Amino acid sequence: MKKNINLVLAGIVLMGMVSCEQSTKEEAVVTTNTAVNTLEKPVKSILTAEEQADMSPAEIIGRLKKGNENFVNNNLTRRDHSAQRREAMLGQYPKAIVLSCVDSRVPVEDVFDLGIGDIFVARVAGNIENEDMVGSMEFATAVAGSKVVIVMGHTACGAVKSTIDQVDAASMEMNSLQSLLNKIQPSITGVETDGERSSKNVAFTNEVIEKNAIRTVKDIRETSPVMATMEDKGEIMIVSAVYDMETGKVTFHDHHDHNGSQMK
Ligand SMILES: [Zn+2]
Repeated sequence: MKKNINLVLAGIVLMGMVSCEQSTKEEAVVTTNTAVNTLEKPVKSILTAEEQADMSPAEIIGRLKKGNENFVNNNLTRRDHSAQRREAMLGQYPKAIVLSCVDSRVPVEDVFDLGIGDIFVARVAGNIENEDMVGSMEFATAVAGSKVVIVMGHTACGAVKSTIDQVDAASMEMNSLQSLLNKIQPSITGVETDGERSSKNVAFTNEVIEKNAIRTVKDIRETSPVMATMEDKGEIMIVSAVYDMETGKVTFHDHHDHNGSQMK
């Protein structure tokens, strides 16, 4: 009986949302209820230069965390991609650049509930840095005005697992893949475990994945004096995170800036 009452109430709420939608066309219906989310007006605009300039790096990270909550709760924002695409022809003012693994199970824009014009995405297996990746980040921050760099590893990363298991790609004539795995290798050094040092040891593997993302942030700072200086001045933040493929949650790491102070 109680269930029926709830259903009736839900129906009334839904009807209310419909009439609201019809009477005030300009007002977006904001709700966290997934059932009602389909009535939400699709977002048609993209980030403007002013919006980009107004946000601090910490605010942007806050927004990304909120967007990730939407993703975890299966409550992504509706977007009018055609309208956004047309507006994006005028320019782009993305708020962040995310360096992610190429893994098909890590849909970066969706993970942060973002769309056209919101973020730059750089992808390479194992989310390692190299000259081209750092060059892309310098463009995103120093030229295009993005204020946050996120190096985002993910659980069950095949590139990290292959490195841990010492897969010999070179013997299979995949020298480029071997070269990539070699760049992940130092992330394993120093990670302690009581269990076996193989990818079957999930706790150990997760620690290496976390260390790999943190180490990449450190490498980016060392490789790019421009970004390191911007970070020292508080103009940008360079942070690491890990995406949990099972829950969809992105966990940002506490990290140390150049002066050794702790930031969230
Ligand atoms: Zn991966």
